[in-house]
Amino acid sequence: MNRFSYTRANDITSALQAHDAPAAAFLAGGTNLVDLIKEGVARPERLVDIRRLPMKAIDDNANGGLRIGALATNSAVAYDQRIQSRYPLLSKAILAGASAQIRNVATVGGNMLQRTRCHYFYDTATPCNKRDPGTGCGALNGVNRIHAILGASEHCIAVHPSDMCVALAALDADVRVSSDQGDRVIPFDDFHRLPGDTPEKDTNLRDDEIIVAVDLPAEGFAEHHAYVKVRDRASFAFALVSVALALKIDGDRIDDVRCALGGVAHKPWRNRQAEAALRGKPLEAATVRDFAASIVRDAQGRPGNAFKIELAARAIVRAFEQASGQELAASEDDPT
Ligand code: SF4
Repeated sequence: MNRFSYTRANDITSALQAHDAPAAAFLAGGTNLVDLIKEGVARPERLVDIRRLPMKAIDDNANGGLRIGALATNSAVAYDQRIQSRYPLLSKAILAGASAQIRNVATVGGNMLQRTRCHYFYDTATPCNKRDPGTGCGALNGVNRIHAILGASEHCIAVHPSDMCVALAALDADVRVSSDQGDRVIPFDDFHRLPGDTPEKDTNLRDDEIIVAVDLPAEGFAEHHAYVKVRDRASFAFALVSVALALKIDGDRIDDVRCALGGVAHKPWRNRQAEAALRGKPLEAATVRDFAASIVRDAQGRPGNAFKIELAARAIVRAFEQASGQELAASEDDPT
């Protein structure tokens, strides 16, 4: 572990000023950053403790939705009565992740900025373009069971590990960020990046910016939603595949649909073209299965993770079943 200085900020301005230094990092819940420091993956020279900043509240916003402070803990959000009644998809996704102990200290902003759980990223004896750009990717021809099937590049096939972010992507949340240049809003879909040839960059947050809050729109899809998470054990495991589905149903027709996938790409994965094509269609097995097939049509499997392609398609169908309360599997011999 490298030596680093520690400073505590009391407001956003002083936090940004303290962070304006080489190799500085914000410290909030620390549930990922401290691990990364201990493993030698992150080597900050200055830690700026932001836990005293006034960014923990959950309030109404001007759009008729809710504004969640970036320092609200995952538990505070998941168990907030307004979140549970108006945005149960978000509450369920958060509670599907990590453990109660971690959720009690992990923050919304930290959850969004957590790094991949790729084994090679954490093993500093192996090549990793995300950890050390230009060194190669150990996962490409290595153990890649947990890796991406959509949107990957020859430089990195890592996935984003969050559950919360998959729900926020499906809900079309906005991210409010601040810097000494002013404030700006980043649509959630644009916050995380695909790896391309710069896998070291997980997000479009600039180095001089801090996440202040997440805005939820008024529509929370409380009536018809589902969060399906498929993982190797029942708790405290990252998703092999997850699906956050938000539906509006008009009679037997799909009025609106948002479908975000986790565990399959470098960011929560949405296919807005496929969603648009589904609107107005009947809610029936063939339609939903065609939609699921279209989501994974361009997926690329590797020896360790090709199973995720069919798994993702089946998880999408399962999510539609849970959200609509209808049986949509095609036949009795189909275990979907
Ligand atoms: Fe590193 Fe990405 Fe390759 Fe994993 S998949 S070893 S994070 S470059």
